[in-house]
Amino acid sequence: MTAKSSNAQSNVRVRFAPSPTGFLHIGGARTALFNWLYAKAKGGSMVLRIEDTDRKRNSPEAVAAILDGLKWLGLDWDGDPVSQFEQAARHREVALQLLENGKAYKCFLSADELKEIRSQAEAEKRPFTVNSPWRDRYASEAPEGAAFVIRLRASNEGTTLIKDHVQGEVMFPNKDLDDLILLRSDGSPTYNLAVVVDDHDMGITHVIRGVDHLSNAARQTQIYAGMGWDVPEWAHVPLIHGPDGAKLSKRHGALGVEAYRDMGYLPSALRNYLVRLGWSHGDDEYFSTQQMIEWFDLDGIGKSPARFDFAKLEALNGLHIRNSDDQELVTQIENLLPYLQGGEEKLEQLSGGVGKQLVASMPGLKERAKTLIELIDGASYLFQERPLDLNKKARKILSDEAKDILKKLEPELHTLEAWAAEPLEEAVRSFVASHDLKLGNVAQPLRAAITGSNVSPPIFDVMEVLGRDESLARIKDQTGV
Ligand code: GLU
Repeated sequence: MTAKSSNAQSNVRVRFAPSPTGFLHIGGARTALFNWLYAKAKGGSMVLRIEDTDRKRNSPEAVAAILDGLKWLGLDWDGDPVSQFEQAARHREVALQLLENGKAYKCFLSADELKEIRSQAEAEKRPFTVNSPWRDRYASEAPEGAAFVIRLRASNEGTTLIKDHVQGEVMFPNKDLDDLILLRSDGSPTYNLAVVVDDHDMGITHVIRGVDHLSNAARQTQIYAGMGWDVPEWAHVPLIHGPDGAKLSKRHGALGVEAYRDMGYLPSALRNYLVRLGWSHGDDEYFSTQQMIEWFDLDGIGKSPARFDFAKLEALNGLHIRNSDDQELVTQIENLLPYLQGGEEKLEQLSGGVGKQLVASMPGLKERAKTLIELIDGASYLFQERPLDLNKKARKILSDEAKDILKKLEPELHTLEAWAAEPLEEAVRSFVASHDLKLGNVAQPLRAAITGSNVSPPIFDVMEVLGRDESLARIKDQTGV
């Protein structure tokens, strides 16, 4: 199952190992990003392993959601995704090998006996650890046909030391790590066994994952020791907290990446934001993907939990929007539209003439927009069809008096040589001066007639983007001239 990367230049090999829960949540996305960046920074490879051993939760949709999330975020992997469940026979083989080498044993403790051990631990206010008597007994002493699990014969003296790139050196007294189960009584492998076997077989050199797995690193080290395998390097990354320091909740942003896509964030901005959640490079906040790859290292990951902050994400998204090429922004809008209400219709309009106009509207719009949704809203006048549906305020602005003004202005616009924002503004300003009006007396009715709204991007930019024929026709629809 070892998927060799074609472009790997170093032996660094990392993995992203999500459990399919139905979406790629933001913490998982950051773990994936850190792994991806580390592989890219070191010229190594990243594999994707779907930890789908929990058959109740696993579904093709849940796996697809993870793959889609990674693809949207622009994170690729080497080879095909590997299903952990499909390696179960290999996991069993390793458990049996440990059994044969005396590094594991069959434990025949019954459910009732385990219950008894648990309640005793509770009564004595001790953590629930199992010191199985079967560690030192012969399996032949067990009753005929009794069910058993296979437990690791872990060392119960001394300590297990985890040298972690983020957490430093962490000691785990072995007496606190009981003989963990490797194979359940139905023969299914446990999580810790599966992870060790897969990481070993896939040639993983660095395990980068959430700090909630730190104590598993100690347990897993004991399995590596049992097999005489090299232990990978560890980097356990702090979790993401809400702005108030509490565990991240939905309200704080604990959503799937597709929710960020739907809110109009650019993948490049989310990558930038996520890399800064826990990793730093001096005081830098804004990174292009190339810079992230160049600068990323495990040493830059901090030990304290990062706090999720929507305002920062939004500000960064605005910067990435401003630094994006106009055509690229339209492509991002096209990718987003299918997920928005009424998006399919807009998409159809884009493949007509509106696409070019949308590109032309970007320079004006992207200066202010913080999300793609704001860009789409700002360009909504492009998607409207004549005669426009005016909003209430626009109808009020277009009083009879205002319509008269537009009627008088119309010939001046008609004869304008160059249809562009600057000459349009000049023409309107000279019209205003010669008719003893204020700019607002003309600009607001123009806006109402041309965009159907009382708010829009700068009206002369709008008129330039719409072009002469469409702009004049929209005015005429209102003035009846
Ligand atoms: N499947 C585990 C999770 O989603 C990750 C296991 C690991 O990285 O070792 O939390």
